[in-house]
Amino acid sequence: MLQLQIARDTCTKCGLCAKDCVTNIIDLDSGYPHIPAEKEKFCLKCKHCLAICPTAALSILGKKPEQSRELKGNLPDPQQLETLIKGRRSIRHYKNENLEPELMQRLLYLTIRGNLQASVYRYCTGARSSS
Ligand code: SF4
Ligand code: SF4
Repeated sequence: MLQLQIARDTCTKCGLCAKDCVTNIIDLDSGYPHIPAEKEKFCLKCKHCLAICPTAALSILGKKPEQSRELKGNLPDPQQLETLIKGRRSIRHYKNENLEPELMQRLLYLTIRGNLQASVYRYCTGARSSS
């Protein structure tokens, strides 16, 4: 279930969500956006439809617009971005302890986020013995 919800008091029926959906599964036949059940399996879970809605009328996959962080005012300035990029390091030393499961789930969610490109992610849930 994609849990698509449209706030009819704020949806202007502009059609941007349908136009921008890369798999073209959002229909506007009834005026308001909806996804036919037979097309649900093609959803990439990208939530772009939520992000693109100019009136914050669309919720999907349990995510509501009001739970989203505004880009405006929250982006790094060019110098901060450069520092982030230059300061990026691969991890070569590991602590002999596990992350909290909630943090691990959050990191996995941010890494994958419904992206269906052919990538493989592996994570371990137990610390490896040094012996
Ligand atoms: S983008 Fe938003 S306002 Fe426009 S049709 Fe879709 S839900 Fe309605
Ligand atoms: S989450 Fe992505 S693929 Fe799914 S309906 Fe929205 S825009 Fe389309």
